[in-house]
Amino acid sequence: MKIFAIYFVNIKKNEIDKVWTLEAKDMLFKEDKANFKTSTNCWICRKDFEEDEVRVRDHCRFTGKYRGAAHQKCNALFRKPKFVPVFFHNLSGYDAHLFVKNLNSMGEGNIDCIPNTEEKYISFSKRIQDEEGKLKYKLRFLDSFKFMASSLDKLVNNLKPKHFENVKKHFDVNFDMLLRKGVFP
Ligand SMILES: [Zn+2]
Repeated sequence: MKIFAIYFVNIKKNEIDKVWTLEAKDMLFKEDKANFKTSTNCWICRKDFEEDEVRVRDHCRFTGKYRGAAHQKCNALFRKPKFVPVFFHNLSGYDAHLFVKNLNSMGEGNIDCIPNTEEKYISFSKRIQDEEGKLKYKLRFLDSFKFMASSLDKLVNNLKPKHFENVKKHFDVNFDMLLRKGVFP
């Protein structure tokens, strides 16, 4: 469990760091310029622009893509989130407390925890910080069973293979095998 916890967080950290630390360059294409010129309402709050209101071009902070014309205030509030959700199905029903314990031994970054009982956690977060100890983001571990109280097997059966776009992207070769329940005892 210790090795798994550390391995898991390091992998996630590396993957997320790649996206998080990206200084996205704002991209603006011809059609975006036209959209900005003709927009009469803010794409975030959907309210119309008043005559004297400052309009800004809102961009995705990760990809740099133009999203739409927005109020200055809405744009400022629509910043990068400070946490990344990590879902485990039935997380609190398993050995999440062991996971938490080992996350703690990784040193860097505190863990915040919402316990249900001493051994069961509703959710916990690991702080990921930079060299100076400043918060970069938190990995927030959540239990998808709390939102969808059904076994993974049943949930998967509600979907058609074409709905598993992201699974397919990473595991094209053994794709069919990943859609069924484990065959090992
Ligand atoms: Zn707005």
